[in-house]
Amino acid sequence: MKKHVASVYPEEACGLLAGKDGVITAITPIANRLRSAHRYFMEPQALWVALMQMEAQKLEWLGIYHSHPQGPATPSNIDRDEAVSPKMVYVIWTPAGTRFAQGNVLDEQPAIVWHARGFLINGECVTEVELAGC
Ligand SMILES: [Zn+2]
Repeated sequence: MKKHVASVYPEEACGLLAGKDGVITAITPIANRLRSAHRYFMEPQALWVALMQMEAQKLEWLGIYHSHPQGPATPSNIDRDEAVSPKMVYVIWTPAGTRFAQGNVLDEQPAIVWHARGFLINGECVTEVELAGC
């Protein structure tokens, strides 16, 4: 996820999370049709293909990830309005700061450090869940 999120920055990244028994084992990046820094809309054909693959592999659709390149680190009103299911986890990636990989501030562009948080969205009710392995 992090690689995808970083690769499309400053646009929003989006994708699907699938797995079994609540454990995410498959991450599928989907193109953001809007190519926007503030919104995402999954490319319908890519979304459809990903859902068909999920079904063929007998995986459950467990969640959606996307980035908020300009924050906040919590679901937006639009995210709440468009939430597909209260059982799905919504992983939101935001830039948590910058860092110099080689420690050399003169020669390098700082890399963005991405941070992920997970949420369950049930109408207006948003509950943060712990993410393992992010
Ligand atoms: Zn959002």
